[in-house]
Amino acid sequence: MGQTVAVIGAGIAGLQCALLLKESGIDVQVFERQNHIGGRMVTENVNGFLLDHGFHVMQTAYPTSQRTFDFELLGAEAFEPGALVVKKSKKKAKFWRLSDPFRRPIQGMMSGMNGFTSPFNLLRIAFLRSKVRRGSLSNVYLEGDETSERWLLNRGFSKSMIDQFFHPLFSGIFLENDLRTSERMFRFVFRMMSKGDMILPKDGIAAAPKSLADSLGFDRIHLNSSVEKIDEFTLLVGDKHQKFDAIICAHNPYREESKRHVWTLHFDAPKSPLKSKHILLNGDVKTKNQLIAHVAVPSDIQPSYAPLGHSLVTVTIVGEAAQKLGLTNEHEIQSRAINELKSWFGSQVDTWKVLAVQHIEHALPEISANSGLSEDPNTYEDSFECGDHMMHGSLEGALLSAEKTVQQVLETLEKSRT
Ligand SMILES: Cc1cc2nc3c(=O)[nH]c(=O)nc-3n(C[C@H](O)[C@H](O)[C@H](O)COP(=O)(O)OP(=O)(O)OC[C@H]3O[C@@H](n4cnc5c(N)ncnc54)[C@H](O)[C@@H]3O)c2cc1C
Repeated sequence: MGQTVAVIGAGIAGLQCALLLKESGIDVQVFERQNHIGGRMVTENVNGFLLDHGFHVMQTAYPTSQRTFDFELLGAEAFEPGALVVKKSKKKAKFWRLSDPFRRPIQGMMSGMNGFTSPFNLLRIAFLRSKVRRGSLSNVYLEGDETSERWLLNRGFSKSMIDQFFHPLFSGIFLENDLRTSERMFRFVFRMMSKGDMILPKDGIAAAPKSLADSLGFDRIHLNSSVEKIDEFTLLVGDKHQKFDAIICAHNPYREESKRHVWTLHFDAPKSPLKSKHILLNGDVKTKNQLIAHVAVPSDIQPSYAPLGHSLVTVTIVGEAAQKLGLTNEHEIQSRAINELKSWFGSQVDTWKVLAVQHIEHALPEISANSGLSEDPNTYEDSFECGDHMMHGSLEGALLSAEKTVQQVLETLEKSRT
């Protein structure tokens, strides 16, 4: 008889484990306590709008993602490289376009003259980009124990450049309000952004886990199955014990301890408030104690995100930023966010309808300056566990951790056969 493995959790890590095991000839069963697959990568269809649970993008430069997904098959479309930044000066909001000078040389040169920041800061960004792209990924992962903010200050960036550009972008990625995340993670993400594109699948972010589940076969996935691991080989499924040759926990048992949280507001707008396919960063979020970190219009990138004649506007608010302002409930957050949006886009915001206000708690694992991010996902000697918490909080971290765990499981199963 063939060997059997149980995977607990049908997030991206659990599904990737199960698929790799199936491809190695193992009989694998996945148990998921919720009524859907995908874990934190879910998309809800609300009146024809595709609402991802928290603003999510895939990065084409992530090496494991490249091996795992067919971006073309996902119908992926990319954001423009670079970003827009909005700041209020006197009564008017001013918008700047910061293009990537290497991929969009003409617009990039114009960014250098648009007065958002000093040419020295733009040169520093160009230098930073070439620095983080060089060398092996190991160097990115293994070197440096500063926070992201300290690392940027040490590279000569002014505090105002950090607050107005890096803060809204990276606080919205790390989902924390101080750029206290390890410099290693900063360099990793910046490298990936400068080497590839940020993309959205045609059917929403849930298309990523779904593509794994399609290859695995849904008959191997048991939804609404909260299981308990009794020992290395036994699961309690409902009121029955089931034996396996190995059990993989593909979830973080301490996820509730993670403090990183985010509010995501989705609006139905008659037309897009942005003139280009960039993400809009709020340059005032740190310096003027504002709420919104960034705004995206997913339907500008992927028209399938909104019904014809509508645009989907998605607003990201870092949970800690809201907490700092004493805002803790949906209504306060919504009304303050709408005021900020009106100060940039004017009365058109009155025509927008709120589709959803999502509060995603325990969103990402903590990766502080001294947490020693490494190239190799963590593993335990006496049990099999995987997920982004064993590496770093991203699709890439979850996939890499799954690959490593499967390798470990296959080696153990091989030994038990001989
Ligand atoms: C708001 C937000 C935005 C993000 N943006 C990005 C982004 O833009 N790019 C990016 O790369 N990453 C992003 N991430 C991170 C990415 O979503 C995660 O790193 C990834 O989804 C983690 O996958 P996972 O399989 O490790 O864990 P999870 O997705 O948490 O999956 C664990 C699964 O295990 C199940 N489970 C737990 N306990 C049990 C049990 N006892 N029995 C059965 N099932 C159980 C859970 O229900 C869950 O389905 C974002 C995350 C959030 C929250």
